[in-house]
Amino acid sequence: MIHLTDVFVEYDNGVRALNGLNLSVDKGEFAFVVGSTGSGKSTFLRLLYREVAPSEGSVVVNGEDVANMKPADVPYLRRKLGIVFQDFKLLPQKNLWENLAFALRVIGASPRDIRRRIGDALALVGLTHRCDSFPHQMSGGEQQRAAIARALVNNPTLLIADEPTGNLDPDTSWEIMQLLDQINIRGATVLVATHDSQIVDRMKKRVIQLDSGYLIRDENKGTYQQIES
Ligand code: ADP
Ligand code: MG
Repeated sequence: MIHLTDVFVEYDNGVRALNGLNLSVDKGEFAFVVGSTGSGKSTFLRLLYREVAPSEGSVVVNGEDVANMKPADVPYLRRKLGIVFQDFKLLPQKNLWENLAFALRVIGASPRDIRRRIGDALALVGLTHRCDSFPHQMSGGEQQRAAIARALVNNPTLLIADEPTGNLDPDTSWEIMQLLDQINIRGATVLVATHDSQIVDRMKKRVIQLDSGYLIRDENKGTYQQIES
């Protein structure tokens, strides 16, 4: 599903955010990406949805060479991905239903298809009763559920979440992570960048650790901190 080979990313200001990353993620996996602030987690995720292009190396997502993708093809790549951020990025002037419908109208879905897909996504995240609410009327946890529902309406094969619980309290964070786990069980590959050591330790999933743009650990059923043996 994801193959990175000798990937370097250098930003315009000369910062090397990734240094020779080699990494694969299989279809159906759930993996955490951990590491301190500035270690390159967001840059790694941005490569996958082509927000950033590598300076060197190859990035393949869903069998497509993302590194050399034409700009015109990027929207098609993103339609197959679900992307979730720390700050939710919901449209403040639109209610929940409209936030989801907007994403679907952009791709030309029929009204009937829009109703069905939104209904399914809201049911999955448990927000059917909130479809008329505006973002500011919802709690942080509800807003993140809404953002996850929006990420799901296109039925993505890969869900990418960058610090999705960074603004949430521990109980709500755990609920959101359980939701991402369910989405994984239903078949999507899920990648989550996080600082939340308690959640990582509790979930016992694959842990990919970056440090200054280097891959320093890749462990199945890992913990947030490497356990010294
Ligand atoms: P993380 O998500 O782990 O905090 P990032 O991928 O955001 O790490 O950042 C990795 C490095 O790249 C940091 O040194 C950061 O300052 C730098 N960086 C991130 N985004 C940009 C950008 N758009 N322009 C220049 N440097 C950036
Ligand atoms: Mg980041």
